[in-house]
Amino acid sequence: MTIFPKSKLRLVTVVYWFLLLYIIAALIWWFIALERQNRRITEIRIDAAEKQQDIKAMLDAIAEGNRKTAQYIGEGVTFLALIMVGAVFVYRAVRRQIRLAAQQQNFMMAITHELKTPIAVTKLNLETLQKRKLDEAKQQKLITNTLQEAGRLDNLCNNILLASRLEGDDALSMTAHEVNLSEVAINCVQEARIHYSARTIESDIEDGIYIFADELMMQLLINNLIDNAIKYSPKDKPVSLKLEQRQGKASLMVTDYGKGIPDADKKRIFEKFYRSGDENTRTTKGTGLGLYLCSKIVHHFGANITVTNNYPQGAIFTTIFTAV
Ligand code: ADP
Repeated sequence: MTIFPKSKLRLVTVVYWFLLLYIIAALIWWFIALERQNRRITEIRIDAAEKQQDIKAMLDAIAEGNRKTAQYIGEGVTFLALIMVGAVFVYRAVRRQIRLAAQQQNFMMAITHELKTPIAVTKLNLETLQKRKLDEAKQQKLITNTLQEAGRLDNLCNNILLASRLEGDDALSMTAHEVNLSEVAINCVQEARIHYSARTIESDIEDGIYIFADELMMQLLINNLIDNAIKYSPKDKPVSLKLEQRQGKASLMVTDYGKGIPDADKKRIFEKFYRSGDENTRTTKGTGLGLYLCSKIVHHFGANITVTNNYPQGAIFTTIFTAV
């Protein structure tokens, strides 16, 4: 579902093309009319010169006519070029707006879903605990489950808050200092192994890699990449994190064996609210904010993030920092 109904979008497109074609047709018509007028004036001048048998005046009239034609062509082509540049600009701006509106709509649907599920689960768990006398093990299970849901809500709120902070001047308040990236990565992997105890998370982390960044932001980056690798790959497949330093560059790679990312989506997944596929048919939960935040954070610290295909399948997210 999108904010712009298809019929409205079609109407906007039809009106746009109609106006553009009308402007171009009017321009061509002006050119034809001016050129006709020019030719008639030239003919009259040639006739007059012929009557007076003035060869020089005749040649002057022909030259003047040709000069006017060249002038009209020059001006017409310039106008046409300007109109085309403007048309392309408007077309792209409108398309961008429509796309953003659709993504925002998807985001609202996703967020409602993301908010409702943990609240519903938490409510149900608390009601069960209140109404029924459960043994200790079952109680613990419900409490752990409720805490996990609360954690999800917390993450979601943090992501939304951070996204709006990064839009404003607050982005400047993320000051860079020396961070032990190896340590941050080791901690994130350890936490992920506890959180996703049923999954295999491999790691190959070189010791003592330092970069200029912010520790919390690096945690957020790594957690988002690991969460995605887990979320978008089958349960029986491992996920791995590799951190190494080569020629003054620290490279952080998170790899999975999921379905990977189609080439057409490779750039777009870093856009705000962008999620592959259709919100109505998608089975994974999410808001399309995670990778947007990752790329914002990474660029803030002068680094770079890219995604490539894994072999035989899956995705590799690589972030390259300048090592200290
Ligand atoms: P979310 O996961 O909340 O949808 P993200 O910004 O983290 O938002 O990711 C954007 C989109 O990129 C996802 O919807 C998904 O389609 C795609 N994506 C991200 N990571 C992976 C991955 N490891 N494998 C396949 N697709 C991915």
